Amino acid sequence: MLRKLAAGNWKMNGLRANLAELAKLEEKHGDAGVDILICPPATLISACEDTPFDIGGQDCHMATSGAHTGDVSAEMLADAGASYVLTGHSERRTDHGETDAMVAAKSQAGYDAGLIAVICIGETLDEREAGTTLSVIDTQLAGSIPATADAENTVIAYEPVWAIGTGKVPTLEQIAEVHAHIRARLTERFSDGAEMRILYGGSVKGSNAAEIFSVPNVNGALVGGASLKAADFSPIITALEAASNF
Ligand code: PEP
Repeated sequence: MLRKLAAGNWKMNGLRANLAELAKLEEKHGDAGVDILICPPATLISACEDTPFDIGGQDCHMATSGAHTGDVSAEMLADAGASYVLTGHSERRTDHGETDAMVAAKSQAGYDAGLIAVICIGETLDEREAGTTLSVIDTQLAGSIPATADAENTVIAYEPVWAIGTGKVPTLEQIAEVHAHIRARLTERFSDGAEMRILYGGSVKGSNAAEIFSVPNVNGALVGGASLKAADFSPIITALEAASNF
């Protein structure tokens, strides 16, 4: 059975005062039966050292060090206390022009620093409406995942761009189709592809989490807005603990 993962992406939100939310989460889920990952802004990573949860960066540079003003390397994230890094989030792909090749290089930098990469992929609304979702997914999977990936160092997050922060969620059939497709591709390419965790992300909330977690090959969630407050993230974690689809 794959270890379930509830991952929260705080994006560019969170000051030290917001760490009180982690303390509240710890009261309910300090010894949860699932993995819990929080990706706060880089400024808060070292301040999370006492939390029982895994901590991740939201991005890293592909180089270890050098003249890259404003950037943070994977080694720096690890040094600050992170054990995961998100790569290829659609906001990075859109706002910073990150290509699949860059995402693969960043993921490899994460591995080299001992981090688990959560590699994000997903189609835009135009691509969904044009019927090209699965071919877009194929291209992203082929280009964004390093050859050195395995089930220990890699998690895939399927996040339809049109579902992120919009309140729109694909149907369960649409989620099932894409997750099954991703599983097939991972299994074709990697000897332990059947064990790589695949998260769904995009407007997951307490009210829809249980049904999403009932979908085969959904091994957890990457959650944005609903991860900021313990009161919103907690029911998602509870639903994941109760899920028995995998
Ligand atoms: C995300 O940022 O990865 C995300 C899924 O956001 P939200 O849950 O707010 O849609």
